[in-house]
Amino acid sequence: MRITHCRDLLKASAAGVLCILFSCSAPDGYMLNVPRSAESEIPIRILLSRSDAPVSISSSGEIIIHSKRSGELLHRSLGKTIKFAPERMSERVTVEASSGLLHVNDAPYRGVMEIHPSGESILVINELKLDEYLLSVVPSEIPSSWPLEALKAQAVAARTYAIYHLENTRSAGPYDLDATTKFQVYRGVSAENERTTKAVLSTSGKIISADGVPICAYFHSTCGGRTANDSDVWKGIDLGYLEGVECGYCADSPSAEWTVELGLNEIHSAVSSKFGRIGKIKRITFHKESGRVTDVIVVHDSGSISIPGNSFRLLFPGNRIKSLYMDCEKNDNGLLVRGRGWGHGVGLCQYGARGMAEKGRSYRDILKHYYSSVDIIPLARHPETYLANY
Ligand SMILES: [Zn+2]
Repeated sequence: MRITHCRDLLKASAAGVLCILFSCSAPDGYMLNVPRSAESEIPIRILLSRSDAPVSISSSGEIIIHSKRSGELLHRSLGKTIKFAPERMSERVTVEASSGLLHVNDAPYRGVMEIHPSGESILVINELKLDEYLLSVVPSEIPSSWPLEALKAQAVAARTYAIYHLENTRSAGPYDLDATTKFQVYRGVSAENERTTKAVLSTSGKIISADGVPICAYFHSTCGGRTANDSDVWKGIDLGYLEGVECGYCADSPSAEWTVELGLNEIHSAVSSKFGRIGKIKRITFHKESGRVTDVIVVHDSGSISIPGNSFRLLFPGNRIKSLYMDCEKNDNGLLVRGRGWGHGVGLCQYGARGMAEKGRSYRDILKHYYSSVDIIPLARHPETYLANY
């Protein structure tokens, strides 16, 4: 039998063929309701996973499943776990709980889920309100024990980063952002914390703008003394508000200074795996701007290869090279690298935000220090009438 409709899938599940229904209990534990406002309720769609394996969804309330295409009610049940098998899904469905949270493979989430067939896999997409999303992002990106003004700076930066991507990359695609460091880390309700929740709610609706437009609010762990120009890290990007600035507040970071040894064999292997096998390495040259490596030239037996600095950094897994703010010297094995900071270095320095907050500076002071010529404005005043789009 070919399953062409989720209703078929769910019917078949009753016979134990496709979807498996279990008795379950899904305690919700701590759950705070986000105060309602137009700004906090902007919907955002986060890709949680692309799965080849079945995905289980449960709730302490009723689970209600609709066809995304027709809106038709396909299933509702109480106290069951619904298992979605990739090979059996043929249309998009939305899954919501009548009350409480949805648990995806036992992890609790706010909002609704969309299950989207994609080839041999299914996409699990969490649609929720902007501030609900931030309740999980902020503690996933910064320690919740830090001073409140640093947490508020992170909350406003994360909100602005999300809005920027909604405005600039929102498309007909099934999701807006994923849940990884590629955008912002999002881990659902289990990451939420009372202090970071306070930071999100007390800054609700606030964004960072340049000339009235939300900025691309990049942030990173530790700049190492001076933040980076965006144009020195990513070719072809030069946003005035992402100019490098003196920091001087992040010396307490565990990544303020670091050293790592890169063996010649390790470098050869990393470069070859990305760009095709190269000859024996004869020379490596590092070009810098404002103290940061912008380009790496590797000369080898059969030619040379020019690698953008950020691409070179990412060739080495596990953050072997924590930042491009570094000096290299030759040693017996290859290179000894002495560096400062962790991350791309553009925009808000998180450890710097902590340092400024400890010196009594406000979240506004912090954001205006790391982003040049910006204002902190209510999202509702954004001249593009952004809210009208939703
Ligand atoms: Zn810094």
